[in-house]
Parts: sequence; C-alpha cells; structure tokens
Amino acid sequence: MNNATHRPMIEIRDLHKRFGDTEVLKGINLSVRQGEVVVILGPSGSGKSTVLRCINRLEERTSGTIVVDGHDLYAPETDINYVRSEAGMVFQQFNLFPHLSVLQNVTIGLVKVRRKSRAEADAIALKLLEKVGLPDKANSYPDQLSGGQKQRVAIARSLAMSPKVILFDEPTSALDPELVGEVLDVMKKLATEGMTMVVVTHEMNFAREVADRVIFIDQGVIQQEGDPATFFSNPSNPRLKDFLGKVV
Ligand code: ADP
Ligand code: MG
Repeated sequence: MNNATHRPMIEIRDLHKRFGDTEVLKGINLSVRQGEVVVILGPSGSGKSTVLRCINRLEERTSGTIVVDGHDLYAPETDINYVRSEAGMVFQQFNLFPHLSVLQNVTIGLVKVRRKSRAEADAIALKLLEKVGLPDKANSYPDQLSGGQKQRVAIARSLAMSPKVILFDEPTSALDPELVGEVLDVMKKLATEGMTMVVVTHEMNFAREVADRVIFIDQGVIQQEGDPATFFSNPSNPRLKDFLGKVV
C-alpha cells in the first residue's frame, strides 16, 4: 500500500514467550512503521496469536522488549490501559457483547474509556458504522447479523478508540466464504487511509495486494520476510515453501 512513514509504531526486540516448558516464541524481532501493513503467516500453533497478544499485553512476555508508539510496555511509568486503547484488536470470533445493540457495542469504549458524552459517542459510532457499510444496523443486536456484519461492527468498535494500530487475528477465518470479501474490503480501505495494521491471515490475495511486508513465523522465529512480490516469488525457506504449498 506504501503509506508507511518513518515513524516506528511497533518495535519488538528479542521477544521470548514460554508456556510452562514450551517456548513458543524464541526471539522475535519486528518493527512496524506508522502506516505500514504487515501480514503474518504461519502454520497453526506457530505463535502468531501470541505475538499479537503480547503487543497489547493480553499475554505477558517471558523476555524481550515491546515498544508501541514510543511506550515501552514494561516500563514502570507506562499506563497499560492507555497503550491497550492505542492498539486495537480484532478477533476471529468477533467478541461482540451479545446483550448490547450494535450502536452500544461501538460506543461502550467511547463512553467508558474515552469519557465522551452519550450524544458525542453516538455521533462518532454512526459515522463509523457508515464507514464499514452498516449504517442501518445501529439498533440491531449481534445475533441478528451475519458473521461478516459482526466482524465489520467489531472493526468499527476498534476504530472508535482512534487506535494508532489495529491488530487483526484471523479476522475472516470464522466466516462463510461468501462473507470474507466484505470484511477484507473494509480492511483494505483502512490500509488505503494509512492505518497501521498487523494482520494474521491465510488470505494470500490480501497479503499480495495490501501488505507492505509479509512475515512467515514458524518454530518460534521469523523464518522469512519481505515485500509481497519478493516473498511469494522466491520462498527460499523450505518450511515456507511447504506452508505455501498447503494453503495456496
Ligand atoms: P497460532 O496463533 O499461530 O495458531 P498460538 O499463538 O495461538 O498459535 O499458540 C502457539 C502455541 O502456544 C500453541 O502450541 C499453543 O497451544 C500454545 N499456547 C497458546 N496459548 C497458550 C496458553 N494460554 N497456555 C498454554 N499454551 C498456550
Ligand atoms: Mg492464532
């Protein structure tokens, strides 16, 4: 997409994560600049979600440095709730509040975290619902929506916090195939507008068209990375070759 500036948005250095005796991440180094779209690929269980979850401390690192927009996540002065609101997360399973309307799902953070008035929050939310193509669903409830619509609400909810970066964890993996496109289109629009995005996905066309950089994680390390053209035309790493052979 090439909207990247020189400003570092995420800096991960020598990130290690262990669950009990199993070391899942064995020294991940990753820098993401403002406006960059980075796609993370890797086999199931390779630690992709763990990397994303470490970026807003949904998961605690074992060792290593993680800096988001200049805030070292483990510096004593860092307000983790602030950093968390700067790094939005979109999950495979949407994680909408089922008892809240679409509008309330989008406004809840604006009211509770950003301390907006109800009227201001509603206005922002309605604009965002328009942006994701759901202006007429404000008063619906999540169980009245398709998976694709739910995921677009989740994206609107994330955008409501004006995040500096959005982390997407397999946002289309739970969707029926015919609903994948509408979600990818919204993501593509965000990328075009310059949103910084880290996207775990198996959608290779999205990676090819939208990513500035593609990263392949396996066995706890980054095995290969590059711009999409180079990455896909020259998968020199044998494990990547094997992976691409299975998913493409
Ligand atoms: P991916 O997203 O690439 O499929 P994950 O990051 O979810 O992989 O998981 C990487 C590995 O860490 C897997 O082997 C998984 O079982 C393990 N794991 C993830 N979360 C936990 C946890 N909370 N406790 C124990 N093991 C975990
Ligand atoms: Mg995962």
